[in-house]
Amino acid sequence: MNRLVVVSNRVAVATDTKARAGGLAVALQDALQEHGGVWFGWSGKVGNRTASEPIITQVGNVTYATLDLSRRRYNEYYNGFANRSLWPLFHYRLDLTAFSKQNTSGYLEVNALFAEKLVPLLKANDLIWVHDYHLIPLGEQLQRLGVKRPMGFFLHTPFPALEILTALPGHRSLVEALCAYDVVGFQTENDLRAFLDYVIHEAGGGIMSNHLVHAFGQTLRVEIFPIGIDAEGFIKAGERAARSPKGKKICAHPGDRAWLVGVDRLDYSKGLVERFEAFQRLLETHPSIRGKVTMVQIAPPSRSEVPEYKDIRSNLEGLAGHINGLFGEFDWVPINYLNKSFDRQQLAGFYRASKVGLVTPLRDGMNLVAKEYVACQDPKDPGVLVLSRFAGAARELDAALIVNPFDFDGTAEAMARALKMPLAERKERWEAMMESIQVNTLTVWRDAFLAVLREAPFVV
Ligand code: UDP
Repeated sequence: MNRLVVVSNRVAVATDTKARAGGLAVALQDALQEHGGVWFGWSGKVGNRTASEPIITQVGNVTYATLDLSRRRYNEYYNGFANRSLWPLFHYRLDLTAFSKQNTSGYLEVNALFAEKLVPLLKANDLIWVHDYHLIPLGEQLQRLGVKRPMGFFLHTPFPALEILTALPGHRSLVEALCAYDVVGFQTENDLRAFLDYVIHEAGGGIMSNHLVHAFGQTLRVEIFPIGIDAEGFIKAGERAARSPKGKKICAHPGDRAWLVGVDRLDYSKGLVERFEAFQRLLETHPSIRGKVTMVQIAPPSRSEVPEYKDIRSNLEGLAGHINGLFGEFDWVPINYLNKSFDRQQLAGFYRASKVGLVTPLRDGMNLVAKEYVACQDPKDPGVLVLSRFAGAARELDAALIVNPFDFDGTAEAMARALKMPLAERKERWEAMMESIQVNTLTVWRDAFLAVLREAPFVV
């Protein structure tokens, strides 16, 4: 079996093979441990200078190689191009994009540096799997340095429509770089369609049979791999939540009040302002439920050095305060807004305790919280998922109450319907969603991608 080399912006170094950080990190670590491999990326540390060599940590079969970045590179590559150009653009927020030549070259510089530092760690027949928008040019850079091994790329975010993507100065070279990989994976049909649209109408490329695409002189395979969750892990965490002391405290808390829970990084793509507005509409239009429901919004801060993230934080604080001031009573706060993060077991408690799960992003590659909420429900009395049509998860979880988050009245009505939904309908919808969550797990996703990558290179 080929050795696996994973490259991602951040590396989750498991100092102990038994450490179970959760989610994607564990799924990748398991594959790396099984076949032996390397996980390469940024250390998460910022210093005065970029490290000249990666720090190597060996844990079992896995070699972790991490590089510290200088403040300038961190600002240009990470805060700048990745998070102020690509992230908003890929999430359809042209209004929030900021483009600069300096950030673009910082992004390319870090990708070239990663390639240069990775090459000496590679062995013949390695499978290279690169993750996400931070590292699109890495494959091309590796190719320039003579690497011919099968290289795959998975985009965790949406791939934007042609009209949006072409607003990026240098969009052509970015897509050309993407085409240097042997396999490019997307979350949903929409993303794949947008990519193919670009290939045909902008790059003058062609689509062959069997998911093969020819563009910029390269042949690559493009496919949909919707990412899943560790379904068993979350089912168990949901069951434990009802029993463990930590979970019990959370689960018992709502009392007679129904909780509507939201769990999102504090990011403008998550539609939090719109969600709060919709909740206000619910309280306005259904006065009888005042005092009987609480919206619990968990929103750990993220990317706080990027100005747009500071703005969303203050907007939300203002809005939560406004709604609480307008409707609250001495013994009832309508929105419980928590600006901090919780671990998996605590989240399972919140999911399990909440009659309604609110996942209403304006745009999201997949949204794992949607799947986690469903997996943690009590099969005998499951809650209802209210899910944005613009989350990748809506493709698989179509038994949720699907909403348009820009439509506050529609979302408020869906919240009201979720709160009143009879048990039989709740069970039917939940069972349909559970089926897909249990079939398409994180491990299935990982193995499906690697199975295709093993077939590379592709020729027409
Ligand atoms: N999460 C967490 N603690 C928190 C909030 C979120 O562990 O306090 C986890 C959550 O369980 C999920 C992930 O962060 O697995 C968020 O993934 P998602 O796809 O929903 O959104 P992203 O943040 O990747 O855009």
